[in-house]
Formats: sequence, structure tokens, C-alpha cells
Amino acid sequence: MRTLLSLLALVLSLCMSAAVLPGFRALPHRVGQHIQGQRWFGGSSTSHKALPFTLQSGRASTAYDGPGEGKVLRMLMFGKPGAGKGTLSSRLVKKYDILSFSTGDLLRQHIAEKTEVGRMAEEIVATGGLIPDDIMLKVVTTKLDSLHNKHWILDGFPRTLGQGKLLDDHLHQRGTPLSLVVNIDVADEIILGRISDRWVHLPSGRVYNLSYNPPKVAGLDDETGEPLTKRPDDNPEIFARRLQTYYAATSPLLSYYASQPPNTTQLVSLTGATSDEIWPKLERFLNSAFPSLKERVETREQKRKHSLSDALLLRQEGAESSVSK
Ligand code: AMP
Repeated sequence: MRTLLSLLALVLSLCMSAAVLPGFRALPHRVGQHIQGQRWFGGSSTSHKALPFTLQSGRASTAYDGPGEGKVLRMLMFGKPGAGKGTLSSRLVKKYDILSFSTGDLLRQHIAEKTEVGRMAEEIVATGGLIPDDIMLKVVTTKLDSLHNKHWILDGFPRTLGQGKLLDDHLHQRGTPLSLVVNIDVADEIILGRISDRWVHLPSGRVYNLSYNPPKVAGLDDETGEPLTKRPDDNPEIFARRLQTYYAATSPLLSYYASQPPNTTQLVSLTGATSDEIWPKLERFLNSAFPSLKERVETREQKRKHSLSDALLLRQEGAESSVSK
């Protein structure tokens, strides 16, 4: 009887999650459309095909890592360059006990440290091209293989169908398949409009935008106070090329993940104009589908750091206002 009741409760909660989570779409994707032989970077499209959407997914035997632990989040943060993947990943990592890796950040670190990979990647990254799949797989799996049963997010990989298949093979061999792909769906014209305002903190990958997410102190990272830098590939020409590369090489991955058999990797598309708009949808969804995600407990040292930086900020604001008086 108890088993029957728990089963009923599970079915009910699944149905409710599907019904009440606004902003979760049955994966209509905007992919580049051709108009008179040209690729059109469309804002919204009415020709989206509704693809299957499943709330509970993951190969049952491997995506759950034990009855007491719940489903482990092994997630791809997917989307166009500049869609806000880095911002949303940072927010998740700050709030929840999740690790996150961005291949763009890893490559930028390799480039800054002038490693062998960095020397090879520098020119390609600067011109908006793609690093060969085998090298990228090595960069990524070196990181992922050390994570065991931790919750993680991968941002920027895979970027080609080949990389997607390599990653799936690799994760399946280790019995740790992907549990979720979140597609951050932002219109091209919105992304293009805000790219020139983007600044990054290279060591952490934290992203700021002068128009809607400025640093507390101009030019400096909020957490460390270190200087922010401009990415060399964040200029309109290179950016247009990166967007084109996305449509040609990366967007086919959406159909690949959408066509996975039921009870495998789940694909969810979240639409919005800003990360602030998408954030609550993302959080609601993760809390519902991955109840084992725990919020971080801020350590005493972190609390001290935050209160120190807030005090510093107050002092600076005080000084500025007394100067302007
Ligand atoms: P991102 O910060 O994700 O926009 O990545 C910056 C640049 O790094 C890209 O424009 C590519 O040149 C390179 N890159 C990042 N991830 C990959 C990948 N998975 N495959 C190939 N190149 C990549």
C-alpha cells in the first residue's frame, strides 16, 4: 500500500512539475534560417517544431546514484556565444553545491599560461574558429574524470556533433551519462547589441555587462578586486563569425539531444532577453528536477570577505558622494 502511495505521489509530482513550470518549453529551437541563400539570424520563429520534453530522464540505472542521493546533475549549459551561459553558470555555482567548467575559460587560461594547447589555440580563438575535437575532448575529460559523483555543469562543450558523440561515449564508459542539457535561448539581435559591453575576470570566468550587470567598482572583479579584461574576440566582426559557426557546427546538437531515446539525457529550452529573466526559470526547474541539489553554506571566511568588500564599497561610495557635494 505504501509503495503504491509513493508511486502515485511520484507520478503526481512529475505531472505537476510539467504543468506548473512556466517558461519551460517543449524545445522549440530557433535555428538559423536561410533567406535567399543567406543565413538569417532570426529573433523568434513560428516554425519551431515541438520536440519531446521529459521531466525525468537519465538512464535509470546510471543517472541515479543511489536511493539516498538522488539524481546527480551532469549538465550542459548550451546556447549561442554571448547568450549568458557563463553568467548563469556562475550564479548556480555561487548558490548551489555545483562545479562548473567553461572550455572558453580553460582555453583562455591555457593561452595566458602559454601551454602547448594555449599556443596552438591562440590564433583560432582570436579569430572565432573552433579548436579540433580531439584536443578539446582531452581538455574537457581531464577535468571531468576527477569529479566522480559531484554535480557539474559544462559550458562551451560540445560545440560540434562529433564532440557531442565523443563526450557521450566517454561518459557512458564511466557510467556517468549526461542528465541534462539546458538550452539558453536568446535572440541574436539582443546578443549582438550587448556584446560590446561585456567584460570578464579571466581567472574565474566571471562575466560582467556594463549595461545590466556592472561590477560594483568600475573595471574590477567583485570577488577579488582584480582588473577585468575585454575578450579579444568580443568585437562585432569576430562575434558575427562565432555566431555563424554556432549555426553551422553547434546548433545541430540540439536535434541530436532532442532525438535521444526516452529516459536518457533531458533537453530543456529556456527563453529570455536577459540572464535575470532566465535565472528564475532555470532555478525553479533545477530545484524541481534535481532535489538533491543543496545550497552552499557560506563559510565564515567567505562571510568575512563579503562584509569586508561591502564595507569597502560603502566607504568608496561615501568618499565619492562627499567629493561630489
Ligand atoms: P567561449 O568562451 O565559450 O565563447 O569560447 C571562446 C572560444 O574558444 C571559441 O570561440 C572557440 O574558439 C574556442 N572554444 C571553446 N570551446 C570550444 C569547443 N568546445 N570546441 C572548439 N573550440 C572551442
